[in-house]
Amino acid sequence: MNTGAEQQLDIYDITIVGGGPAGMYAAFYSGMRAMRTKIIEAKEELGGFMRTYPEKLVWDVGGVDPIRCEKLIDSLERQARTFDPTIVFGQEIAQMERRDDQVFVLTSKTGKRHYTRTILLCAGRGMTQVQKLDIEGANRYELTNLHYTITDLSRFKGKRVLISGGGDSAIDWANEMEGLAREVIVVHRRQEFTAHELPVAQMKAFAQVWTPYSISRLYGTGDKIGRVELAHVDNGEIMPIEVDEVVVSHGYDRDFGNLVHWGLEREDYGISVDPRMCTSQPGIFGAGDFITYGSKVRLIAGAFNDAVLAVNSAKIYLEPTASDMAGVSSHNARFFEKNKAISNL
Ligand SMILES: Cc1cc2nc3c(=O)[nH]c(=O)nc-3n(C[C@H](O)[C@H](O)[C@H](O)COP(=O)(O)OP(=O)(O)OC[C@H]3O[C@@H](n4cnc5c(N)ncnc54)[C@H](O)[C@@H]3O)c2cc1C
Repeated sequence: MNTGAEQQLDIYDITIVGGGPAGMYAAFYSGMRAMRTKIIEAKEELGGFMRTYPEKLVWDVGGVDPIRCEKLIDSLERQARTFDPTIVFGQEIAQMERRDDQVFVLTSKTGKRHYTRTILLCAGRGMTQVQKLDIEGANRYELTNLHYTITDLSRFKGKRVLISGGGDSAIDWANEMEGLAREVIVVHRRQEFTAHELPVAQMKAFAQVWTPYSISRLYGTGDKIGRVELAHVDNGEIMPIEVDEVVVSHGYDRDFGNLVHWGLEREDYGISVDPRMCTSQPGIFGAGDFITYGSKVRLIAGAFNDAVLAVNSAKIYLEPTASDMAGVSSHNARFFEKNKAISNL
């Protein structure tokens, strides 16, 4: 039971840093384990990296029909809220301190403090920032026809679309526009694409391809880009191209901020965890793309599995005699009342 002072400090059983698929699923599962849960998300919405491909169809989540990513985020968020966790938006956690009584104090960049007995790091790729076009004045077109992500494919119908980038996202967008856009032009600064071979071959079969070129200038018609100037990367040759829409897919800068300076062991691809998702510091656990271990799967399904293991470890850290895992949902008492409320069960 909490003492008066603890109640004043509002100490949670588990605080999840990051509200992507790992964090959202962890919040649901910690509710199944009757843990008082808080999620802290730096952005103003849940969803994590999935917010960068909202229009894409996701096929590889078990038991879910092909689904637009934004719909999958909605389902995950509803599920995350099942047991009413506290959800805090707009706070990037920067500092962690462990008090003598083993309670952690997490401090956000805005100076807000959060008290918790365990921490679950689900920070994914950290604070990702889209890599924007490094051309003066480019930002003035961001509200019209310069796109860094695509939220509505239908706006490209019948248009002449130029896509800059050579990775999976750029080539996927190009392929999604086949038959929709009037013309698709793909520009990449290297001769070879880094995207997978098959989609590249598919794209080359219908798109106009310029390599190794990069966008050197944008010419506006009113508040829109009307023409793009491409420059050959080696000899500087200039190629003007008329366009209706420009999509730039140059990837993301990853910024893990202070989280990686908390003294946790790490490898190239993330914070190291053991098979039960324990980091090198007692009471701190990890799940999703933020962590790494031998067989780590960087997929939504992989994040779910990590989340279950991490929450179970946090529960046992708090209550060493607790069972290894939550009761399965089909028999878990936490759902009895909720099941009654769902009339068709
Ligand atoms: C283009 C692309 C397509 C993909 N398609 C698929 C697919 O079809 N199927 C599939 O299964 N997977 C897909 N993935 C992979 C999938 O998106 C990731 O595996 C998944 O998003 C990882 O989830 P996560 O919760 O670990 O991290 P993230 O989704 O990265 O979420 C991390 C969250 O933590 C927050 N955060 C970071 N630092 C802090 C901090 N200090 N304080 C507070 N909050 C913080 C971030 O703002 C973010 O919201 C795709 C990935 C890419 C790049």
